Amino acid sequence: MRHSEAVFIVGAGPVGCYNALAYAQLGFSVTLIERRTRAELLDQRAGASFNIALSARGLYALDRIEHRAQTLARAAPIIGRRIHGLDGEYEDINYSGNPSDRIWSIKRYEFLAILLENISQQSEHIIAHFGAHLESVEILSNRAVFIDCSGRVQDVRFDLLLACDGVNSTVGQCLDNRLGCDSTLDVLKIRYREIDLLQDAGFSANDRLHIWPRTSTTVMGFPNVDGTLTGILFDNINAAPASSLQDQIESMNVLKPAEVKRIVHAPTKPIKCISRVTWCCNDTILLGDAAHAMPPFYGQGLNCSLENSAILVELIADRKDQPINQLLCSFSHNRRPDVAAIQELSFQNYRELEVFGASASKAFSDQSQHFHRVNHEASIYQRVTFSREPYAHIMDDVAGL
Ligand SMILES: Cc1cc2nc3c(=O)[nH]c(=O)nc-3n(C[C@H](O)[C@H](O)[C@H](O)COP(=O)(O)OP(=O)(O)OC[C@H]3O[C@@H](n4cnc5c(N)ncnc54)[C@H](O)[C@@H]3O)c2cc1C
Repeated sequence: MRHSEAVFIVGAGPVGCYNALAYAQLGFSVTLIERRTRAELLDQRAGASFNIALSARGLYALDRIEHRAQTLARAAPIIGRRIHGLDGEYEDINYSGNPSDRIWSIKRYEFLAILLENISQQSEHIIAHFGAHLESVEILSNRAVFIDCSGRVQDVRFDLLLACDGVNSTVGQCLDNRLGCDSTLDVLKIRYREIDLLQDAGFSANDRLHIWPRTSTTVMGFPNVDGTLTGILFDNINAAPASSLQDQIESMNVLKPAEVKRIVHAPTKPIKCISRVTWCCNDTILLGDAAHAMPPFYGQGLNCSLENSAILVELIADRKDQPINQLLCSFSHNRRPDVAAIQELSFQNYRELEVFGASASKAFSDQSQHFHRVNHEASIYQRVTFSREPYAHIMDDVAGL
């Protein structure tokens, strides 16, 4: 693939934006389309965004496009969990025995804002259309049609299509239909709502992920650089009645009374996961959640997607004379075992928490055992989170435990 060629990216979530910047840096001509408006993508209202924890694999990818320092300047380091009990007592559990190991918590919209700001400075290489959606794609003839924000139909020819359009991917459905594949969609029993946490509730440790497990609900507070916490509430699909939920949330003492009332009646958001049989066909490939959305509790969905994106960019940059469809096939073939491994690890981790219910507190505490070293070896969690060891190698050891 030569540098003058056209890359068409569907979806300006973190994965689409990352790829737009990476290909623009290589000199490709990038067209990026996104269904939402720029304002919708950057919605800062309380309850509209959650935090993402970035770790070694995501940071590696950000290094590749020289965005690591800029991102970390707006991210808070987390060294472990603080699990809050009913009685005001808490338990601190570190992620690792190595004092330099930390994950980085950043508001999702702030991360997107950094990427979008850099995209707007690359207008020579990137044409971005917001409020535009993909209408159709002809995978074998490399043509796509999208409707721009003014309702105009635009017909594009591409040399490489990166479908970064999330778990409900339109391109993924086209691929499944064309190849006759049956992808597996799982909707988790745990759902979530973004919440506005009290910012003066005396959170003494701003380098910890705060967790308040209760009978049928759990709140997590992710630290921010300004000392505040961003909240997210998880509850089971068989959630308690509103009155019981209200009692449980009040017992945490972390929300204003008005916010408690708002969230008890706020709609929950589902967590969808997908395993696709095939990621690529001809010169089109699915990346990020479009290819492999996974349960979020291991904190690897985006990290894995960014690592994959960086690996594909490196392959394309290194082998300019090889046909693109061969590179996509070879990338998919090589990365499948690793993605299958982290999806399985994330599902195992989700099943431990799925119980929530009366034993939610114990589930979180037990799960923290994963952070401990075994016989002086790094724990599975450490290897997944603080290294770039292939996920499939790590999974082999899990199978042997
Ligand atoms: C509660 C929660 C917490 C999480 N925490 C973490 C974490 O700590 N660490 C981590 O690594 N991962 C985490 N994840 C996972 C992470 O959020 C996702 O993996 C990541 O957002 C995927 O990015 P994406 O760009 O692939 O997809 P998305 O973020 O879904 O973006 C897809 C974009 O495509 C656009 N789009 C869709 N269809 C079209 C179309 N037809 N035309 C044009 N545009 C379209 C959408 O509007 C959207 O903007 C978490 C997920 C959840 C739900």
